Amino acid sequence: MTMETATNGRASSRKTGPLFVDASALAAELRKAIRGEVRFDAGSRALYATDGSNYRQVPIGVVIPRDVDDVVQTVAICRARGALILSRGGGTSLTGGCCNVAVVIDWSKYLNKVLAIDPEKKLARVQPGTVLDVLRLEAEKHHLTFAPDPSTHTHNTLGGMIGNNSCGVHSLMGLGTGRTSDQVHELEILLYDGTRMTVGATTEDELERIIAAGSRQGEIYARLRDLRDRYADEIRRRYPTNLPRRVSGYNLDDLLPERGFHVARALSGTEGTCVTMLEASLHLVHSPAVKSVLVLGYPDVYAAGDHVPEILEFKPTGLEGLDDVLVRDMKKKNIHPQDITLLPRGGGWLLVEFGGESKEEADEKAHRLTDHLKSVANPPSMKLFDDEAEEEHLWKVRESGLGATARIPGAKDAWEGWEDSAVPPDQVGDYLRDLRKLLTKYGYGCSLYGHFGQGCIHTRIDFDLKTVAGVEHYREFLNEAGDLVVAYGGSISGEHGDGQSKAALLPKMFGADLVRAFGEFKAIWDPGNAMNPHKVVDPYLPGENLRLGPHYHPPQLETHFRFPDDKGSFSYATERCVGIGECRKEQNGTMCPSYMVTREEMHSTRGRTHLLFRDVPGRPNEAGVEERRGSRGA
Ligand SMILES: Cc1cc2nc3c(=O)[nH]c(=O)nc-3n(C[C@H](O)[C@H](O)[C@H](O)COP(=O)(O)OP(=O)(O)OC[C@H]3O[C@@H](n4cnc5c(N)ncnc54)[C@H](O)[C@@H]3O)c2cc1C
Repeated sequence: MTMETATNGRASSRKTGPLFVDASALAAELRKAIRGEVRFDAGSRALYATDGSNYRQVPIGVVIPRDVDDVVQTVAICRARGALILSRGGGTSLTGGCCNVAVVIDWSKYLNKVLAIDPEKKLARVQPGTVLDVLRLEAEKHHLTFAPDPSTHTHNTLGGMIGNNSCGVHSLMGLGTGRTSDQVHELEILLYDGTRMTVGATTEDELERIIAAGSRQGEIYARLRDLRDRYADEIRRRYPTNLPRRVSGYNLDDLLPERGFHVARALSGTEGTCVTMLEASLHLVHSPAVKSVLVLGYPDVYAAGDHVPEILEFKPTGLEGLDDVLVRDMKKKNIHPQDITLLPRGGGWLLVEFGGESKEEADEKAHRLTDHLKSVANPPSMKLFDDEAEEEHLWKVRESGLGATARIPGAKDAWEGWEDSAVPPDQVGDYLRDLRKLLTKYGYGCSLYGHFGQGCIHTRIDFDLKTVAGVEHYREFLNEAGDLVVAYGGSISGEHGDGQSKAALLPKMFGADLVRAFGEFKAIWDPGNAMNPHKVVDPYLPGENLRLGPHYHPPQLETHFRFPDDKGSFSYATERCVGIGECRKEQNGTMCPSYMVTREEMHSTRGRTHLLFRDVPGRPNEAGVEERRGSRGA
């Protein structure tokens, strides 16, 4: 039995609404009802079949709503016809959380506006499809910013950030632990059953009142309170308190009375599995006018990790780490060749950023740290950057990590899959050493870098995801890596969410009782399991639905061009795009002009590559998927 038929059999045995959806009738009804675009053709479905992850699931169809009424209508029609739904922003998710056999609602084309900024209250109201940098530019006019800034900040959306509970370099400046959930004030949400409500923090008195009012919201809140009360002890026991990047699992801790029964924060990070967000009200923080970057060079990345707590004492606004493997890989790919030479001597580096209202103030903070470091034994090499352009280039080196390490000349292809585990920041050095040992045991090679100031470690690993033995090896590794991070009191995901690549590991971190509570939480919002099913809760396994996988055997086509950098293979060239979506940025740069004008995924470089991927014969068995969902095309 091939991998794909095994996957189909497993999925079809689950309770995810009806097995067959009449896609033609669904599309026709949607076209009549909404102002937005309805695309159920094979090409559009291929464009939305994958995200930034290793997974690929062909959707039933795509809806691009023009307004919130379109979304409400779409959900109502999908409900009436038993179709599953999945919201999508920039589609840069790395865990498979943004692909599914569902009707995809693309928020990014039209519902992408900053609706209001209240500088006094430091609040922003946004539509879910708003790109983070668009909000940041608006907020800067008031010397404010949205603290968490993923490396994809030029093209990821706030809806996606709330969906994944994203974080970034400047999470250190944010409220609470700096995750997106901690910056959420209120959400306007839509349930699959059509209920609309606004949710946020709720005092115990308000909670009583809402429940007593007897509305659908009251009914839901009563069930949430009951869930919280039944699991409160276990939540307090198992949710780590010294770990800024606990992104795995649902935020059930936000329902605790001491955290204000914050339903909006509890729904953040649910990866489209519970509700559809229609609008968000978000907290902004002060944005320092000027920043200074100090780079510290240590003998290796482990030593750099050991020094994280010492550096954090000096209250930086960003603290990132990178190793020599990343630098070597970038040299091989000729990425930022000039910028890499800016790094001081060393084999592992910490990039430390300080903010101030003037250059003098920011530099003064950096000097306090350099003075301290000079006074201790074995100080690192140090370089303080004065030039804004150079500082920006350095951040670019760090931000390029996940994309730049996908295909290194002369090395095996590298993939996400264990790319954002997190530990308490004072454990970074030791965790890196143990993680490297584990990687070596499995014969894997990779660079190690990330948001060290918050204990989050990035890496792209050369998993073999194209053979049965390779996929099994990868799954065995995940199992041990899960044990390792949990032994450190860490989180399986430190910013990308669980999606499908990590969710099967959740029992290790939370235990069976809390994993059951996640299922109950989802069922309160989505009893029919119609919202992005089998991600996070009752998940597909990490080896299912792989974009490539053991079933992927494309023929080697005769082509005019020779593709020397792609093993002489056109089909291998079509695997180049790993979906990071950099070609969807709009604010600056030259890539991708056609996307900038049309805001169409099909006109982005990523979209075109995904179409080519689809059109190369030998793809995973798409026909099987269509048959399973009864999709007759439209
Ligand atoms: C190269 C690279 C670097 C990255 N670096 C970082 C990083 O530094 N930090 C980080 O946190 N992440 C990082 N990521 C992961 C990802 O870019 C972020 O999590 C990002 O915030 C996702 O935004 P998006 O708009 O692409 O979301 P999408 O992928 O489109 O969606 C994410 C989730 O949100 C849900 N969602 C979207 N809109 C709605 C809505 N209206 N209602 C309900 N659910 C919704 C989706 O269903 C999905 O489950 C990186 C990814 C790549 C490829």
